[in-house]
Amino acid sequence: MAEEEKKKVKRPLGHARLKPGKCIACGARCQSECKVEAVEMNDKGEPVINLGKCTGCRRCIRICPAEAIEIYFTPEEQKILDELAKQQTGEKPAAPVVEPVDEAAVKLAAKLKEYKGVWVFVEQSEGVPAEVSWELLGVGKDLAKTRNVELCAVVIGDKVKDICQDAFSYGATKAYLIDSPVFLHYRTEPYYKAVCYLINKYKPEIVLIGATGLGRDLAGAVATDMATGLTADCTGLSIDENGFLLQTRPAFGGNIMATIKTERTRPQMSTVRPHVMPLPKKDPACKGQVVVESFPLNEKDILVKVLEVIDDRKGAGDVDIAGAEVIVSGGRGMLNKENFKILQELADELGGVVGGSRATIEAGWLPVERQVGQTGKTVRPKIYFACGISGAIQHLVGMQDSDVIIAVNRDASAPIFEVATYGIVGDLFQVVPGITNRIRELRKAKRNTPSAENTACVPEDKTNGTS
Ligand SMILES: Cc1cc2nc3c(=O)[nH]c(=O)nc-3n(C[C@H](O)[C@H](O)[C@H](O)COP(=O)(O)OP(=O)(O)OC[C@H]3O[C@@H](n4cnc5c(N)ncnc54)[C@H](O)[C@@H]3O)c2cc1C
Repeated sequence: MAEEEKKKVKRPLGHARLKPGKCIACGARCQSECKVEAVEMNDKGEPVINLGKCTGCRRCIRICPAEAIEIYFTPEEQKILDELAKQQTGEKPAAPVVEPVDEAAVKLAAKLKEYKGVWVFVEQSEGVPAEVSWELLGVGKDLAKTRNVELCAVVIGDKVKDICQDAFSYGATKAYLIDSPVFLHYRTEPYYKAVCYLINKYKPEIVLIGATGLGRDLAGAVATDMATGLTADCTGLSIDENGFLLQTRPAFGGNIMATIKTERTRPQMSTVRPHVMPLPKKDPACKGQVVVESFPLNEKDILVKVLEVIDDRKGAGDVDIAGAEVIVSGGRGMLNKENFKILQELADELGGVVGGSRATIEAGWLPVERQVGQTGKTVRPKIYFACGISGAIQHLVGMQDSDVIIAVNRDASAPIFEVATYGIVGDLFQVVPGITNRIRELRKAKRNTPSAENTACVPEDKTNGTS
């Protein structure tokens, strides 16, 4: 009888709790891993664990990259554990536990194993590849290396074979090519069918697509047809210890960073916006294998016809903030539209362009094409000036990967300073013209030095752009 009772005592699993000062605010991985919604995130991006809900499953502990979560037992639970430990002393070792075979899990694991390789869809328009494709090959190379698999490009179009060599120059070792007049212009139906045909035939584990207008359309159609998961607008991609793709993106209006996994279906699909990932170095000497595929499709079977292609890239006064090397952005602190003149003057001195936070677009001070941030453009310039911008998370996700960030704000506690390379606490109406004047003075002094003749071939904005 006493033996029976011993067996009935359930071993407590404890509850997760945060170790003080250890959390690195990695982007709410513990929250997304928790299956019982026991984890809330506070303002600092740290977890607040609801002990009433926590089942002690240890998922959050396993996912935490900073070992910031530990298991905690209440005094009552600790008593039970001590009791169990005492009972075990002197007892015969328990017979090994034979886990029942979960056939569904075994089948699933076998199916997932069939998928190998990292693919990047190379977007092109009239034979001109989109730069985001090369950025994806950069991050794809790291993923492929971690998974020890091939990095492949998917090139679809009309007379686009040369693009395969470009893809090799940016890190792909193989390119799947479908080249036919049917693919001259992008249309959802032929393109998604061609991509799905390749996926079904070659079974890649990861497919990356640029989050452009075309890419978003294609990725959604492919993921639907393949009945697999798609994470849009990822800002981070990595591989976890089980080989799953960790897809990080802002969620809940940018208030948290969610990390998403596709655990049960393949391929794992993500889109990434232009300029979010760095452009890898091009090595034209790199070679690879071109796998030519034909996907039979007749023009007459395709319902959508392209009558005319209108290039809309030349809007907003011919300014493309996404491709600019220097951006001088203003926020609500600019106070009115006219004051943007001082930002334009600084931008002109540095050969840059003017951008803004959403507040300035909503106020009608700048056209919508100039908006930087989550619902605007993602930018990665060499220099980003943030003038009178507080640094809301929705703004930061669009510019925090700039090479150098110079923030001007009169509030020393503004969050923009947390991502700034150089922070200037002061009134922008004094600081910005001050910087512009200083650049002009330096430029003038340079012109007047005797060696100026020798440097006459160097464009002015380049000599001073990084000073
Ligand atoms: C779903 C969603 C999507 C969003 N998408 C975007 C987006 O894409 N891009 C974006 O920017 N925002 C976006 N937002 C809005 C975002 O949350 C902020 O409201 C916005 O970025 C604030 O703009 P701001 O920094 O210009 O203004 P504020 O937050 O009002 O900051 C103004 C700053 O100017 C400083 N200042 C004032 N006067 C001076 C002076 N004379 N000298 C120096 N500094 C001065 C102040 O100290 C303050 O820090 C989004 C919000 C939501 C909910």
